[in-house]
Amino acid sequence: MADTKKLFIKTYGCQMNVYDSERMAEALGTQGYEETQTPDDADMILLNTCHIREKAAEKIYSELGRYKGLKAAKPDLKIGVAGCVAQAEGAEIVKRQPMVDLVVGPQSYHRLAEMEAKIRSGARALDTEFPPEDKFEHLASRPKAKRAPAAFLTVQEGCDKFCAFCVVPYTRGAEVSRPVQRIVDEAKDLVERGVRDITLLGQNVNAYHGSGPDGRDWTLAQLIWELDKVDGLERLRFTTSHPNDMGDDLIEAHGNCKKLMPYLHLPVQSGSNKILKRMNRSHTAESYLKLIERIRAARPDILMSGDFIVGFPEETEEDFQATLDLVEEVRYGYAYSFKYSTRPGTPAAERALVDPAVASERLQRLQALITRDQRAIQDDMIGRDLSVLVERPGRDPGQMVGKSEYLHAVHIENCDAAVGSLVPVTITGSGTNSLSAQRRPI
Ligand code: SAM
Ligand code: SF4
Repeated sequence: MADTKKLFIKTYGCQMNVYDSERMAEALGTQGYEETQTPDDADMILLNTCHIREKAAEKIYSELGRYKGLKAAKPDLKIGVAGCVAQAEGAEIVKRQPMVDLVVGPQSYHRLAEMEAKIRSGARALDTEFPPEDKFEHLASRPKAKRAPAAFLTVQEGCDKFCAFCVVPYTRGAEVSRPVQRIVDEAKDLVERGVRDITLLGQNVNAYHGSGPDGRDWTLAQLIWELDKVDGLERLRFTTSHPNDMGDDLIEAHGNCKKLMPYLHLPVQSGSNKILKRMNRSHTAESYLKLIERIRAARPDILMSGDFIVGFPEETEEDFQATLDLVEEVRYGYAYSFKYSTRPGTPAAERALVDPAVASERLQRLQALITRDQRAIQDDMIGRDLSVLVERPGRDPGQMVGKSEYLHAVHIENCDAAVGSLVPVTITGSGTNSLSAQRRPI
């Protein structure tokens, strides 16, 4: 291709941004761009940003500041800001950093190629609308390049839940689900390109209600059973779920769908009913625990993962203790915990903060408990026969690295299996963040 240009994308935040960055790289691929791993030789730098916690915008402004020298040395270099900070800050970004050529919100990525042409002509391009057309449909065309064996696939976006602390309903907009057939087509395309493990993504993925081939709205469980039929696709996962959208058919799928992996990310945020109410979570600690009991009855070995916020306004030591009690009861294989961060424009932003030192100390206690369980669950894997999807060669000679059914990273010794193959193994050791294993004869 004549005149190949280099694109450097820096991705912040959640898996959905990882997926979006891939789509943007493909969209700009049609404009002659090829990805590069460093900003130094780039013709275009794109920051795909996250706004979920405090100081997100400030971090982006200081990152932009770092590119000033590059821009001065190469005036043709184009700089763009995408993602949720772009959505939240809009024109403010070019006001504060006039060297920015392009600002694009998450709902307008399908207009990126057009916007790129505009900035090449010397103009600025800014789009933070919520357009009526389906951006995924417009982002569909792509080269048939080979892919890594595990991939993300966005099926749903946005959120109507309005938890009191969260910016997602404002930056990503109302809940929208993609039609079933489009998702199945995309999954088949990924499989043709070497993908074996797909994680279905959505801010509230289990609220999925995309239109099915019969013209009715399908649930996530129905979508999963449809994807179960795709030959060559070996594993399915989904994230992130809300406890209130965990329907009976989805719980049943965890028991019966062989391709659906025994791993579930189900954020609870707090173990105190008072705090959950103030958070507008519309579930209680008891209803959450009852739900996990039902999920475990369907799939006893399921590995649970969660999200927690500590130091939410008005959280007392007693409320925090309720969170610790809930963690003790669930025993999470993984969990992500955050100190509450005020997000302007959200209902909780007006409320009095917990002393930051107290919040930090609570976060440490929670993380210590989570780490204890995480290590114990990993250690319990020693001696078990698992299956690993091989993703890449390891650091040591003869070693291959992949993921188990439970999403643990596993190092297989003396393994000559190809990337993309499923290898039966016996777990032989447990490290800080990964397991080691020996291959089993088939
Ligand atoms: N939809 C998911 C749910 O209902 O739990 C979560 C999506 S959110 C992008 C990911 C996580 O970020 C949340 O589960 C929450 O723990 C954390 N988070 C969101 N807003 C936050 C805030 N203002 N301060 C600290 N953590 C926050
Ligand atoms: Fe944010 Fe999740 Fe609550 Fe939606 S359900 S508002 S994405 S925390």
